[in-house]
Amino acid sequence: RKSKDVLSLVLLDLKMPVMSGIEVLQEMRADSELENIPVIVLTSDQDAEIESLTIGANDFISKPYPQAGVILARIQRAIELHEDRLIISSTERDELTGLYNREYFYRYAEQYDNHHKGTAMDAIVVDINHFHLMNERFGTQFGNDVLCRVGNELLAAMREVGGIVCRREADTFMLYCPCGQDYEGILDKAAVELSEKGEEMRAWLRMGVYEDVDKSLDIERRFDRAKLASDTVKGSFSQRIGRYDVAMHEKELYSEQLIEDFSTAINERQFKVYYQPKFDIQPEIPVLVSAEALVRWQHPTLGMVSPGAFIPLFEENGLIQRLDIYVWREAAAQIKDWKERYDIVVPVSVNVSRIDMYDPRLPEILLGILGDNGLTASEFLLEITESAYTQDSYQIIKAVNDLRDLGFQIEVDDFGTGYSSLNMISELPLDALKLDMQFIRSAFEEGGDTRMIEIIIDIADYLSVPVIAEGVETEEQLFVLREMGCDRVQGYYFSRPVPADEYEKFIEESNRVRSGSPARLQPSREMAPHRSESAFIEIKHALISGFEAIFYVDTESDHYVEFSSRGKPKNLQIEDSGSSFFDDAQRLLLSSVLPEDEARMSLSLQKDALLLQIAGHDPFFMTYRILQDGKPAYYCMKAIRANTHDDHHIVIGISNIDVQVSQVLADAAVSDAEVEPGTA
Ligand code: C2E
Ligand code: CA
Ligand code: CA
Repeated sequence: RKSKDVLSLVLLDLKMPVMSGIEVLQEMRADSELENIPVIVLTSDQDAEIESLTIGANDFISKPYPQAGVILARIQRAIELHEDRLIISSTERDELTGLYNREYFYRYAEQYDNHHKGTAMDAIVVDINHFHLMNERFGTQFGNDVLCRVGNELLAAMREVGGIVCRREADTFMLYCPCGQDYEGILDKAAVELSEKGEEMRAWLRMGVYEDVDKSLDIERRFDRAKLASDTVKGSFSQRIGRYDVAMHEKELYSEQLIEDFSTAINERQFKVYYQPKFDIQPEIPVLVSAEALVRWQHPTLGMVSPGAFIPLFEENGLIQRLDIYVWREAAAQIKDWKERYDIVVPVSVNVSRIDMYDPRLPEILLGILGDNGLTASEFLLEITESAYTQDSYQIIKAVNDLRDLGFQIEVDDFGTGYSSLNMISELPLDALKLDMQFIRSAFEEGGDTRMIEIIIDIADYLSVPVIAEGVETEEQLFVLREMGCDRVQGYYFSRPVPADEYEKFIEESNRVRSGSPARLQPSREMAPHRSESAFIEIKHALISGFEAIFYVDTESDHYVEFSSRGKPKNLQIEDSGSSFFDDAQRLLLSSVLPEDEARMSLSLQKDALLLQIAGHDPFFMTYRILQDGKPAYYCMKAIRANTHDDHHIVIGISNIDVQVSQVLADAAVSDAEVEPGTA
């Protein structure tokens, strides 16, 4: 055992005192440290040869011994074979989890099919929901640990039922096993319990099952189907398992047809551009400012197909670029037509896909289209979805900057869904934020609140750009949004997207209202004048002055948002949110506070007590200790009213005093060095 790392091979005699060779071999093969050392058995007993081979000898040499040269050659060969095998088995493994990698997994799955032609099989994909958030919040080390533990559980489950498992990529696993296992049970086991930073949680998994696979399909296609099924339950709380079914199969066929028909559709101009108006809602009577161009497909056999059915598909395979250019051309020609007929400039915003942004010819293409129609960049607004910025920020940001230099205005689409850190947003080149429709939906549904919308309006304030709310359907929504300082609105309340000739009634109406004033619909870069002081700026200041976390609390509803900077004030991010601050705070803080400080903390964190403390304009401070790595660390909590005109928002900051002190000392050391370089 001492030499286990340097032994290339063991020559084992079967007859020995104390322990027989067979027993040694058995023990070695059962021992994880020794099992991989090759063994050649030396024996004169024919029966023992077979026995030793079956329990794991690599070869045997029988008496009378052959010539030394023969023995050496066989030893050499045994060692070589063994080493080759080690290399193979290391490349067939995923380094992190030790599971098969995707390539070998596919190969083994095929092999399995060859050996078990009559066995019906299931292809399964397992994903971890919100893995990236866990990774961000607790670090990659923690994330890796989660992956290993989930992987291990899946491996154990597959061993039990005679299946195989691999890590497909990142946080996705694939399983291949005989049909109809207890998948709920497997998920229960694989949803391992985790604890970090005093939080107890379980890995939150989802699964896609493609049952009784069609073995004439490529093995990869089978798992694509399982993945599709898994995506249908993405983020769902009520359902963990999605199954590939007839409906999904039909959808797959439908998608295939759309892709096939694409070229003909472009040539035959089957794509129609619709226009949906955007209104400035701050004036008493809303003012038409621009339109968004939205494409529809007038398909000869399928009828009117909505973009939701084909845009994601075309984004996947790159066809979107041709389609976008087609739409831009149509929109530009339309603006030109309106300009001639109504003597008015109607700016139109067009959607620009992420893929378009990677094309270095993009500015040239856009300018070409504008030039052909005698238009300028100010008449064409570009909508770029937020997630494009976050996926490949450096390249996209550069491309966007180039476009802005040419005079294009950029509207960030679907804002709030792209996981930008606030720090990153402040560096993004943009001219308007388009609030994702989902925020309007959840704000106005039963029990919803407008907190996220307010935050985004604050962010827009901080960036000095207007906010556009999309998907506004009711008067109530319009009213609330206007009160909150939202600048523009697009939605069914005003109009669905309509064909160009129907859109003209908005132009005519707006011409009537403004008759006499200059003929231009102009989305100005200005925003609502009456927005209140921004809590967001306060929060940013607070974080820069050393707070690690900030809670922004609405004391009427007890809803709150947590911001953090993770040690670097520039990295300001929305960390968490919840609906009962005082309960959550009691629970979270008290779980880590030193017992001696508990009673005092608990008292001060009671709502009434805290509000009383900060009823004036002075902040309330309190220090307390938290057990960190077995030692008490000193923390300070500061609570203050958000601002003087607002009596129901408070801001609570948490800072680690030890860190601040050492920071001050470090800063002092630096400035000393600057003053007296000689003595530093
Ligand atoms: P999007 O850019 O976020 O466009 C807004 C979508 O919201 C449109 O759906 C619009 O019809 C819909 N909408 C607007 N107001 C309301 C409302 O009050 N209630 C509801 N329920 N929906 C409303 P549409 O036209 O189906 O487009 C879906 C998506 O397809 C667009 O989302 C965009 O991402 C994409 N898309 C559409 N046309 C194009 C295009 O020409 N090029 C590219 N790349 N993408 C496009
Ligand atoms: Ca859009
Ligand atoms: Ca949108």
